Amino acid sequence: MVGGGIAGVACARRLHDAGVRVRIYERGRRIGGRMAVKTEYLGPVSSLSVGHAVDIGAPYFTVREALFAHVVGVWQRSGLAQPWTDRFSILDEQGLRRGEPGPQRYSTVPGAGGLRGLVENLAQGLRIETAHLVESVTVEHGQTLVDGEPVAAVVLAMPDTQAARLLPAGTADALAVAGSVQLPVLTLWAAWPSRWWPEFDGVFVNSSDVLTWISDSGRSHADGVPLLVTHSTGDLARPRLKDPTSGIEPMLAELGRLLGAEPTPRADWARVHRWSFAAPARTHPEPFGLLENGLIGVCGDAWGPRSRVEQAWMSGNGLAETLLKQLP
Ligand SMILES: Cc1cc2nc3c(=O)[nH]c(=O)nc-3n(C[C@H](O)[C@H](O)[C@H](O)COP(=O)(O)OP(=O)(O)OC[C@H]3O[C@@H](n4cnc5c(N)ncnc54)[C@H](O)[C@@H]3O)c2cc1C
Repeated sequence: MVGGGIAGVACARRLHDAGVRVRIYERGRRIGGRMAVKTEYLGPVSSLSVGHAVDIGAPYFTVREALFAHVVGVWQRSGLAQPWTDRFSILDEQGLRRGEPGPQRYSTVPGAGGLRGLVENLAQGLRIETAHLVESVTVEHGQTLVDGEPVAAVVLAMPDTQAARLLPAGTADALAVAGSVQLPVLTLWAAWPSRWWPEFDGVFVNSSDVLTWISDSGRSHADGVPLLVTHSTGDLARPRLKDPTSGIEPMLAELGRLLGAEPTPRADWARVHRWSFAAPARTHPEPFGLLENGLIGVCGDAWGPRSRVEQAWMSGNGLAETLLKQLP
């Protein structure tokens, strides 16, 4: 398995539970992929040990499919995940207002380690090598090789753009991952001494060239910390991918403008993360890709109607079910 995001972990979990020997190679120091977390220590020195998990990738997830609902039920019963809200706000030309009720959104409880903690929970007992960048996946004389090492099958559980880089051009074409485009995002998170913004859980921003989303991290994790997380538009991120810190100032300024406090009250600190491959520009109608001759599979949130956490899990789990029928 190449990639320790939720798709790769879901796929490996299903294979492992069916008795298949699986190894996950993850280039990052932690698994989780775009369900990423930074732990911030806020407040007086006496409470420094209590970290606040800031979800800097996906801020929440939704549940529609029964199979995924089962996994979420386990996370809930384990005291990790919790329903957050079914109602986000909307910010457009008419201003900020509460939106209509929508699907239930889930986040994590304090101490669960944010959304990444859910992936780590799912990965318990799996063999994982972090800080391991895979550079090539090839097939020679009918044998699949990962960086030259023979394997019975390999799954690339990552954005198409990253998968295409590992594969020979013909294989990337056959798996329909060549030439794909990923949309970039900058995530900014910042803390203030106290809340200066109106009450909301999360806001879909429809009227800004700079921001698309704002959430109150203290409300999503129910610990009250005065910390906002916001996502940029692709247009703001694209020219700043080499220097993401150049996005801090315009994003902070836009936060104040949109939330009715100009100039923006001075933050204690602000940080930014670059997502070069935040979301696929288009998705595949199929639930995963598989070249049956060499047993090379691809899965992730690009496979299915709408890229999101649930789809990534469904894609990985579905690919595992098919592989189980084909592996020797
Ligand atoms: C800013 C942002 C906001 C989002 N908002 C939401 C939301 O509100 N709700 C929702 O449901 N979803 C949201 N998402 C999407 C959600 O995070 C993804 O759909 C999901 O996490 C994708 O999981 P994945 O396993 O397919 O891919 P990833 O999480 O990207 O995992 C791929 C993994 O592969 C690893 N990898 C790549 N190349 C290699 C290599 N060569 N060798 C080894 N490892 C490699 C990467 O390091 C990564 O860990 C958001 C994402 C972002 C970035």
